[in-house]
Amino acid sequence: MTTTLRGFDTFRKRITLLSGGLLLSLSLVLVTSFYQLTSTRLSTASGEALVSISQSISNMLSANLMEREREILLLSMRSSLYENQDLSELQHAIDQIKNSYKDYAWIGFANVDGVVLASSNGVLKGADVSQRPWFINGRSGPFIGNVHKALLLENLLPKPKGGAPIRFVDFAAPVIGENGELKGVVATHADWAWVREVLLSSLTEASKRKGIDIFIIDNEHRVLYPDSHFPNDIEVPKALPVNGQFKSLLWQDDEEYLTSLVSVRSPESTNLGWQIVVRQPLSIAMSAVKEVHKLLFFLGVFSTLFCMLLAYQFASTLSRPLERLALTAKSIQQGNRKATFQDDSKLSEVTSLSRSLQEMMSSLLEREQSLMQMNMTLETKVRTRTAELEASNRSLEAIVRQDPLTHSYNRLALDEALLDEYRLAQESKRSFAVIMVDADHFKKVNDSYGHTVGDIVLQKMAKLLAVQVGVKGMVARFGGEEFTVLLPNTSAQEARSVAETLREELEKEEMIDGLYITASFGIATYKIDDSHYEQVLNRADAALYIAKEQGRNRVVVSA
Ligand code: GH3
Ligand code: MG
Ligand code: MG
Repeated sequence: MTTTLRGFDTFRKRITLLSGGLLLSLSLVLVTSFYQLTSTRLSTASGEALVSISQSISNMLSANLMEREREILLLSMRSSLYENQDLSELQHAIDQIKNSYKDYAWIGFANVDGVVLASSNGVLKGADVSQRPWFINGRSGPFIGNVHKALLLENLLPKPKGGAPIRFVDFAAPVIGENGELKGVVATHADWAWVREVLLSSLTEASKRKGIDIFIIDNEHRVLYPDSHFPNDIEVPKALPVNGQFKSLLWQDDEEYLTSLVSVRSPESTNLGWQIVVRQPLSIAMSAVKEVHKLLFFLGVFSTLFCMLLAYQFASTLSRPLERLALTAKSIQQGNRKATFQDDSKLSEVTSLSRSLQEMMSSLLEREQSLMQMNMTLETKVRTRTAELEASNRSLEAIVRQDPLTHSYNRLALDEALLDEYRLAQESKRSFAVIMVDADHFKKVNDSYGHTVGDIVLQKMAKLLAVQVGVKGMVARFGGEEFTVLLPNTSAQEARSVAETLREELEKEEMIDGLYITASFGIATYKIDDSHYEQVLNRADAALYIAKEQGRNRVVVSA
């Protein structure tokens, strides 16, 4: 469907094509049936006209033959003419008859032996005609001889124009004496030219223009007329219609002819078997209907095109508003939010569709607006929330790594920092130092001043350590009254110096009114073969233990 109708994908093209196709088929059917009807009628009419031409020629020929036969019979019956020895009366009668009918080429009387005794203009007088068919047949009764070439008379008669051989139709009748004996045969040779005249008189100019040809054939199917070359080189088809009928036949020149046939009624004496064949080229006979057909065809094509134009315009009035709606929808899809489904169509369906689309678009736009707003609110909320979470995360991280009492770093933070330092030391072979700090006789503080004061002292101690260490390192509460100072990239010597400062500053610091404390310091540094930072811590702890052992308030560096 999509392949065959590609290019015809619009409503109006399809309607135009459909209506054009339907109308063209209808026109073709009508024109064809009309053509067949008119062809049949016209061919019948033309055929009947040909039959009627054939019929009239036949009648004229027939009448002429009978007239000639009657004339020879009358001549044969005038027995007195044959009585005198010199046959002068007969000669006179012969001349009279010859003069009365111009197409008599010869009239003569031959005695029983076939010797011509009297003849027109004395032609053939004394000649022996005993072997001539007219003489042989004429002895026994009236006879008409078929068309034949002049034999004996060929050289005795004037040559006809055009050089065609002279042809005769013979009419003969026996002359019977008073006692019933045969006295001879009287005969006329009618020039075949009379047939041409008969035909020419029956063929009007109009008929000639219509291409009508006339043929006379005999019972052996030989063409007697036209006789320009005898026997004629034109062949008449064998399958001729029956007497008084017509039919369409293919002739020797491969052209179709409407052909009619009518038999010539012969005089009673001889059955000549002549037939009149009249033909007309079918193309000429049908030319009128062809013209009508052509006219109808053009009318059909013209009306089809006209109707296709109307259908196109009609389909356009239907499809144009739909196309406009589609264009608007496309424009909206491409982002033009101001486009509206306008409708100037007078079709209620289209108006209703347009209104629905407009409403749908408005509601979609509203929804889109509210969704955008919701989205913006949501994004702001998410941002705020994320920031809050990040902040609380940061503070949580800080809390997790902070000692709640002193706000120093706790063990977790210390462990992480130690691990980092240990790894760095392993990679870069730089060292780090750890100072373990333990308040001296702290139990006594608690015991003497109470636990709360003990807490305050621990807070102050933490603060002092942090202030003194500053950015050089980190201070973490290791547990109880014990702190750890981590000094990155610091040698034992430097660490001792730091520890001394811390010890002195702590010693000087008045915790609360009149209360001073001291602390002991154990120092250790990273060693290359330490497999864990705990080993550094342990050594620092051991040094611290020694410091305690040695009397407290001092600094001991691990060996
Ligand atoms: P030394 O010089 O040998 O370190 O003696 P010391 O009394 O400091 O050591 P000891 O281990 O005997 O006692 C430590 C005391 O520290 C015991 C405990 O009550 C006190 N202490 C530990 N943590 C806290 C705390 O968070 N607050 C208070 N107020 N006291 C604490
Ligand atoms: Mg302790
Ligand atoms: Mg202590």
